[in-house]
Amino acid sequence: MDPFDSNSTDQANLPRNMIENSMFEEEPDVVDLARDSTAFPTFPALDPDEVVYEPRSSRLLVRGLGENDMDEDEEDYESSARLLGMSFMNRSSAHRSNSSPYTRQAPPRSCSRPSARTMVVCVLFLVIVASMTMVLYFLPGCTFTKTGCRKPNQTAPIEPVYPVSTNGELFPWAQLRLPQSIRPVGYDLTLNPDLENMTFTGRAVINMSVRHDTNRIVLHSANFNITKASFKLGDEKARDVTVLEYKPRQQIAVKFSEDLKAGQFCVLTLEYSANLSHTYDGFYNSSYSDKNGKKRVLAATQFEPLSARKAFPCFDEPFFKATFLIRISRKPNYMTLSNMPKAKTTSLPNGLMQDEFEKTGVNMSTYLVAFIVADFSSTSKNVSETVVSVYSVPEKKEHTDYALDTASKLLEFYNNFFEINYPLKKLGEYTQALACYFILLQFFPFLLSSHTLSCFVSPLSDLVAIPDFLAGAMENWGLITFRETTLLVGKQSSSLEKQVVASVIAHELAHQWFGNLVTMRWWNDLWLNEGFATYMQYMSLQTVFPELDIGNLFLAVRFRALDKDALNSSHAVSTEVNTPEQVEEMFDSVSYEKGASILLMLNASLLEEQQFRKGIIQYLKQFSGLNTGTDDLWNSLTQVSTQHQNVSEMMSSWTSQKGFPLVTVSRKGDEVTLTQEHFLLTSENATHTSSLWNIPVTYVNDSCSLAPECRQVFTLKTKSGTFKLPESVKWLKLNYRNTGFYIVDYGDEGWAALLDALSHNVSVLTHEDRASLIYNVFALSRLGRVSFHQILNLLNYIFNETETSPVTEALLQLNNINQLLDKRQEHGLVARMKTYILHHFGSLMDKQTWEEEKSVSKQELRSVLLETACSLNKENCSQQAKALFKQYVESNGTMRIPGDLQQVVFTVAAQSAEDWSTLLSMYGHATYDSEKRKMLRGLASTQDTRHIVWLLKAGLKGDLIQTQELPLVISTVCKGFAGYLFAWDFIQENWDRLIEKFPVGSFAIQSIIKSVTSQFSTQAQLNQVQGFFSSLKERGSQMRSVQEALETIKLNKRWVDNNLSALQKWL
Ligand SMILES: [Zn+2]
Repeated sequence: MDPFDSNSTDQANLPRNMIENSMFEEEPDVVDLARDSTAFPTFPALDPDEVVYEPRSSRLLVRGLGENDMDEDEEDYESSARLLGMSFMNRSSAHRSNSSPYTRQAPPRSCSRPSARTMVVCVLFLVIVASMTMVLYFLPGCTFTKTGCRKPNQTAPIEPVYPVSTNGELFPWAQLRLPQSIRPVGYDLTLNPDLENMTFTGRAVINMSVRHDTNRIVLHSANFNITKASFKLGDEKARDVTVLEYKPRQQIAVKFSEDLKAGQFCVLTLEYSANLSHTYDGFYNSSYSDKNGKKRVLAATQFEPLSARKAFPCFDEPFFKATFLIRISRKPNYMTLSNMPKAKTTSLPNGLMQDEFEKTGVNMSTYLVAFIVADFSSTSKNVSETVVSVYSVPEKKEHTDYALDTASKLLEFYNNFFEINYPLKKLGEYTQALACYFILLQFFPFLLSSHTLSCFVSPLSDLVAIPDFLAGAMENWGLITFRETTLLVGKQSSSLEKQVVASVIAHELAHQWFGNLVTMRWWNDLWLNEGFATYMQYMSLQTVFPELDIGNLFLAVRFRALDKDALNSSHAVSTEVNTPEQVEEMFDSVSYEKGASILLMLNASLLEEQQFRKGIIQYLKQFSGLNTGTDDLWNSLTQVSTQHQNVSEMMSSWTSQKGFPLVTVSRKGDEVTLTQEHFLLTSENATHTSSLWNIPVTYVNDSCSLAPECRQVFTLKTKSGTFKLPESVKWLKLNYRNTGFYIVDYGDEGWAALLDALSHNVSVLTHEDRASLIYNVFALSRLGRVSFHQILNLLNYIFNETETSPVTEALLQLNNINQLLDKRQEHGLVARMKTYILHHFGSLMDKQTWEEEKSVSKQELRSVLLETACSLNKENCSQQAKALFKQYVESNGTMRIPGDLQQVVFTVAAQSAEDWSTLLSMYGHATYDSEKRKMLRGLASTQDTRHIVWLLKAGLKGDLIQTQELPLVISTVCKGFAGYLFAWDFIQENWDRLIEKFPVGSFAIQSIIKSVTSQFSTQAQLNQVQGFFSSLKERGSQMRSVQEALETIKLNKRWVDNNLSALQKWL
């Protein structure tokens, strides 16, 4: 998924906070046996679901869902674990208290006569049990627990928790993660949506295999009215069964009086009805107005991460891959789309049509299933045996050409890069196609040329623009869904607008291999999907569309990832998650941007040509169709190294701990010493953790600093390390082109030498290195390592700077400070900051033109410079923008403002009451989606508080301004002085309605929290924010983004308090 609704870098820095797992006792994912074995006291023997002995570690774990398939060779571990589980359980069940509010299930279990094999296995078990009993006898029971041995008075272990189903019976499962005794094999789904009444009925036939003996089937289901349920075991007759439901965990279960046996196959058939969702997930309804102003309705899906269960009952975890056969009924004037090509259409007696899609030939996770019922139109193209189509509402069909062309080129690139053709190809297709081919050849050879395509069932890659869509895009296998703004551009759109579309398509297409073909086992390793897709999005664009100049954006994105990861509330790339909110919160800048950053660092530091690509190919081939964890990727990259470079050793330090290092450089004679420490921003000044990273430090110096050959590498694994450098070397720049995920402090002398070099000639360093120095000095100022005076010293070189990335980074940092001062009402300092910015960047601002500009990089530079200039009321800027707006209005839609200038023009226009109204009416009629969004940002930048309040309310209501745009409205409002307190009031007053639309933990909520709080810097504001969020309890108080907000306010306060006098002195 691409959660960011645009490519703008301020989206990259989404909030994130550490959630303590307060639900640990109740919903264990990984629980220590001795402590929590009582969670299953009522079953005489634990299911293997509940106990897994993990041979790689010395710990004994009980898992809600083991990470490993329990294959034949793991049976021994499993068996010993089962027995161990029993012994632990029996011992601890003595401590049960009767005070639990939950009741427990009675133990149903019977023994069957053992086979010879079982006997042998049992003997083995007994040996293991005997040895383990001895170990247990000599070791205290708490040896294996996380908490270690407790004091004698802390005896009562956690109570077993079997919740009560809606019908009053005990629900036979007590964890968030499903048991793995039953695996889905295939789903046969029939859906009948009624778009008029916003309801649907469904029938799910789920074929399953029994992996381990069990007397229950537990799966996910949310808010269905289940009307009929039947069960069929092997060749037996189907019989009706009772379905138990436990709503808080969105689970249903069927209990059996006798065990289903390992190796058996069974079928559960559920018929149900439900409402189409009114939010942006599950099977949801959406609408748009056609060109005649008539409302048209449609239904679409968004399942990632946990919403497939809202459309059909299923085993809704990425690990449970299965095949899918989908049928959807529709009115004759509608069309349907799903992951696979359509197989046939039949007329139903009620006048409806039913489309049936090919069964997926590959196993697929539930979050990748998708279907759409709409009246879209499309354009198509055949790319190396794959039919690529782009769908949109009929009015916007002409805006699909660029996406079609881009997707086709990128698909070809990925086919070659991964050496695996677009993977949604089925074995059956070849057979079918072959049969079809021979029939044609035999009887209708004349048809072969024109009909070959329709006869050969080709894999499909559909890209669909959905009018109501919250995320940027979603990589559903074969049916990728987008926001209109991330897929549709007109022919005359600027290359900057095309860059957005191309990079989102590149991201989603990369997922078709990374994520869809090979999928993370669980959401803790979401970065394997998202970090990789994000990295590939930049890498593929650099190769396929160099003219789109994606490098500047990728660099900015890496800086924003560092911003977030510097906070104590950040988290490791690979982090344990359990609750739905925690899963939602994984869709953040750490999984995406830090994930991409460390892959870039890795690729840049590998010793062999093509090692990265070879490792990726090896990984995709080895795990094709399966699930993986982070180690699997590192192992594949290690295996392909002919020089035995241990990738796991290096990379695990970057994925298993949060944060990143600060590398400090000191030189004495010909010796350079590098020291690493955790770059941790904390308001308490307690910056020391013992974290160490395996850092591939790169450096260049004054003798050779630009070409890649100049780069030298020093691996810093320990706290400090030294290398030699001739004393004649004048300066040293570390982290060549900022490909490493760390910050460098050069010390007073080092900084002075670099500044000296830059002030003589800016071109002694690459533009990425210059931007990196600017970013580093501001970051060090936040850490308290350098003074504000040092920032200004470095920026003295900027008069000669003309490149995009250093200028935009410097302006972004200065604007952030300016906004903090503005909100603190330090009017004098704000005025001096304005003078400072105009003095340093004024001449570059004046050099910008207002005509069409071809170069993306120049467009990026120009839009940032002019937006800053106009926001500071630089005279000629506002005049130019107003004039352009006037021409635009008078042209009646025939003239177009260059895409990169639209934002500044609309923002300036929105500052006058009259033009604000004009802009609003234009917004209502605009057809170019990217333009429309810029109009909205313009509207929200008004300083008229009545307009601000109107916009916030309209966004929540969702008719004139779509609710999907509310996060954008809020973030824009919060940048201005007039509205930021209104926005804060607004989210407090409307919190419950907000989380109805944007689930707790979702990226939209993360973004809203960050927008409204990131510019607070006083104690009173801190108290208010703390008070509000802690009052929310389960409605959001536990979010990482709340922790991050609180930390940010404290850090803002500290920075302003510490730097006010310096600002007064130096600005
Ligand atoms: Zn993604």
